[in-house]
Amino acid sequence: MNYQQILVEAAEVARATAGQGRVADYIPALAQVPAEAFGMALATADGELCGVGDWEQPFSIQSISKLFTLVLAIAHGGDALWKGVGREPSGNPFNSLIQLETEHGIPRNPFINAGAIVVTDRLLRLTGDAAGAVRDFLRGESENPSLGTDPEVAASEAAHGHRNAALAHFIASHGNLLGDVDTVLGHYYQHCAITASCRDLALAGLFLARQGSRADGSRLLHRSQAKRVNAIMLTCGTYDAAGEFAYRVGLPGKSGVGGGILAVLPGRATLCAWGPRLDAAGNSVAAMAALDHFTTATGLSIF
Ligand code: GLN
Repeated sequence: MNYQQILVEAAEVARATAGQGRVADYIPALAQVPAEAFGMALATADGELCGVGDWEQPFSIQSISKLFTLVLAIAHGGDALWKGVGREPSGNPFNSLIQLETEHGIPRNPFINAGAIVVTDRLLRLTGDAAGAVRDFLRGESENPSLGTDPEVAASEAAHGHRNAALAHFIASHGNLLGDVDTVLGHYYQHCAITASCRDLALAGLFLARQGSRADGSRLLHRSQAKRVNAIMLTCGTYDAAGEFAYRVGLPGKSGVGGGILAVLPGRATLCAWGPRLDAAGNSVAAMAALDHFTTATGLSIF
């Protein structure tokens, strides 16, 4: 398979979406990105790495960080996590408050903001530094020691994070936060504000294509845990567009409002595409189009 050639085609398809969608501006610092940037990387389980466009340009990973908080919380703490967060698709926007009241402060899944706040809380309890644990994991797997956090984005989100604060306080009112609300939110904003490139994220997600094994051969997750994380990505990773993502792309995927989407081809490879303009559900228009092209042209999907 000539992956490089397929990425070049996928980039052309992505560039044809120029002008569609809007850059996230509810976090003001995020609105400063070049709206028409596009990059895509592919990393294979047997060591091939290729990319196209701005694939080495760091961007704000935002909710892609929720994938890594989840796997680290499972790796450190096992199934105890599932007492405080569910595993069902929400069918609602990522920052919705609506289900949390009827479901008594137990968020639907780990990838909506409410669920990620609970996971961050548990990871903080397990490691003492949730955001640091995510950053160090990403640095290690991508072999990129310069991968860091954008303090301006973290501060901007904290200053405008009224919905996330509301979610966190509501969860705390139900006794479902172990730590102090502001400390947990601080870690949540810090891991969302990590900057990484398509290259870095494709490499960092490879353990999910390798059934739980890390770059150095050690095991992060058991095989069945890796399968389960992939399943949650498929059903919940792109919020209320998870059905559309499965329909068009057919892979487990996790998006972020920075415009990145990380997708897994289990047993084979990871793909990461980035374009800052988002659709109404908060998923990158260009990255969706590029991943759609990749799986359609190659026939490689989980279906
Ligand atoms: N940090 C963002 C927020 O909490 C993450 C949302 C996202 O990427 N979907 O709103």
